[in-house]
Amino acid sequence: MKALVKDRAAPGFSLREVPEPRVRDDEVLIRVRRAGVCGTDVHIHQWDAWASARCKPPFVVGHEFAGDVVEVGALVETVKVGDRVTAEGHIVDGMCLLCRTGNSHVCPHTKIIGVDRDGCFAELIAMPASNIWHLDASISYDVGGIHDPMGNAFHTALTAEIPGATVLVTGCGPIGIFAVGICRAAGASHVIASDVNDRRLELAQQMGAHEILHPGQVAEAVRRSTAGYGVDVVLEMSGVPSAIHQALDLVRVGGRVQMLGIPSKPIELDLASEVIFKGITIYGVVGRRMYDTWHQMTRFLRSGEFDPTPVITHRFPLEGFEDAMHVIRSGEAGKVIFEIT
Ligand code: NAD
Ligand code: ZN
Repeated sequence: MKALVKDRAAPGFSLREVPEPRVRDDEVLIRVRRAGVCGTDVHIHQWDAWASARCKPPFVVGHEFAGDVVEVGALVETVKVGDRVTAEGHIVDGMCLLCRTGNSHVCPHTKIIGVDRDGCFAELIAMPASNIWHLDASISYDVGGIHDPMGNAFHTALTAEIPGATVLVTGCGPIGIFAVGICRAAGASHVIASDVNDRRLELAQQMGAHEILHPGQVAEAVRRSTAGYGVDVVLEMSGVPSAIHQALDLVRVGGRVQMLGIPSKPIELDLASEVIFKGITIYGVVGRRMYDTWHQMTRFLRSGEFDPTPVITHRFPLEGFEDAMHVIRSGEAGKVIFEIT
């Protein structure tokens, strides 16, 4: 089959023929229709410090996808050939302290498809049946193929108290833009979205942001719209140090900061003034809660209250992978997807 492979410990990918995956008894084989391209794939393509420390080539890249089941292992009873599915890409052991206390999203033994084992930028992928998520008939392959990053946004927003809240979203990459729409659908009373990139701010506005602003304009807007208190909730979705300080500064006393964005190196905080004496709660987001986030996501999509399709701005065949990497790096894209089969 055709697959996009990280062949060597150096920049680049190669599109080539690889053997079809063999399914174990507890796995299913999926024909991939759509696959989302993520910043992580760009890091692996560039072979930056994170990628070279974490990944062991050769492997098939990609972790966001939807498709059709074409084969099931002998022990699989919950998935049938022909099912339309996506999957949780974090494969956990199911047996450790965290997994057995309902916290699989932070399982220390997590293996991520397209990072630690073969991924989905290929015609076929094998997945444990327990990771499969069935797609409602009403949910397209396009939307199925972006459940992973949408799930990050659902996890971040819905573990805060959003109904009625004033919310600041710092960083309008695909995940921040999804989060804006989710906050609106979940009943936030005022959503301010910030970014340095006007194209991305436009998408945030399309998803329902009440105000779209550059970082330098945010403090004044927050003061004005919250009678000087600060916002109830900040969703930090940039990972940029100045935005992280801004998040801590503009959340109200006793408020909540949801940290999704990943800084590329350690940053310095004044814990006493930025966190402790403000009495705030900081929540670190890892992936998606299994499977609370997935149920919430399906229900919001089914209700029609949240529609992520405007965020998908570019689509390519696998052959166009260099263009896909380029358009993501340019900052001109919302969500970029591959149309595979
Ligand atoms: P992205 O890099 O496309 O989005 C980040 C956005 O922040 C960009 O649009 C950028 O222009 C904007 N930005 C830059 N400086 C800013 C500033 N000062 N104020 C406000 N915005 C600013 O990424 P994405 O795919 O949407 O992911 C968002 C972040 O979440 C990334 O840091 C990514 O690594 C991280 N992430 C975390 C998890 C997790 O499980 N915690 C999962 C996926 C991604
Ligand atoms: Zn575990």
